[in-house]
Amino acid sequence: MRKAIFPGSFDPITLGHVDIVNRALPLFDEIIIAIGVNADKKYMFSLEERVNFIKENYKDFPKIKVTTYSGLTTDYCQKEEVDFILRGLRNPADFEFEKAIAQTNRKLSNIETVFLLTSHDTAFISSSIVRDVYRHGGDITGFVPKSVLKK
Ligand code: ADP
Repeated sequence: MRKAIFPGSFDPITLGHVDIVNRALPLFDEIIIAIGVNADKKYMFSLEERVNFIKENYKDFPKIKVTTYSGLTTDYCQKEEVDFILRGLRNPADFEFEKAIAQTNRKLSNIETVFLLTSHDTAFISSSIVRDVYRHGGDITGFVPKSVLKK
C-alpha cells in the first residue's frame, strides 16, 4: 500500500494545500494530513480548529486521514509505516527550504519526499497571508475552503 504523509501547520488549511492534496490523490492509496505540533510556535487557530477544518473538508474522502504529531516527521512516518512525504512547492524560496529538509529526512531515514508544483491559480496563497487578511477583517473567500469560511 502506497501511503504518504502531508505534514504542515495548516494554520489554516488553504486552497493551496487543497490543490496539492487533490492532485496527489491518484498517486497514493492513503494520504495522512498530519498537523505538526511545535510548542515554540504561536498559532492563530487552535489545534482542534485546524483538525476540524481539514476533517470537514475531506469528510467524503476515505483515502484521507487527519492526525496530529509532535517530534520528528521521520519518526512519525516510521511509526505510521509511511514511505513518502508529500510537500508543495510555490517558488525558489520554498525549493531551498524544502530541499534542506528533504535531504535531512533522507539522511535520517529511507523516506522519500515527493514534491508537487503549485497550480498557477493557488501559487500566491500562503497561510500567513491568509492570517493577515483575516486579522484585519479582509475577505478570505477565494483563499480557503468552505470549512474555514464557516468560522
Ligand atoms: P509548514 O509550517 O510545514 O510550512 P504549511 O502548512 O505552511 O506548513 O505548509 C505545508 C506544505 O504545503 C508545505 O510543503 C508548503 O510548501 C505547502 N503549501 C502551502 N501553500 C501552498 C500553495 N499555495 N501551493 C502549494 N503548496 C503549498
